[in-house]
Amino acid sequence: MAITKVWLDESNDECVSCGACEATCDAVFSVPEKMVVNESADFAAHESEIKDAAESCPAGVIKFS
Ligand code: SF4
Repeated sequence: MAITKVWLDESNDECVSCGACEATCDAVFSVPEKMVVNESADFAAHESEIKDAAESCPAGVIKFS
């Protein structure tokens, strides 16, 4: 199923602003301080990078559906 939502979920842990997600997919993620999702990005076109970024996030705060 195509990814239609990507968000920062800090309910269990906090983004540590490491920048790894932006390095993986700068079309979707930017880290001016804490990570923000570029809501105008084409999530479906970057699915593998979004999944990689979520798996690699040291804080486990990148969620998608
Ligand atoms: S990889 Fe995770 S902890 Fe690092 S900046 Fe991105 S959201 Fe924050």
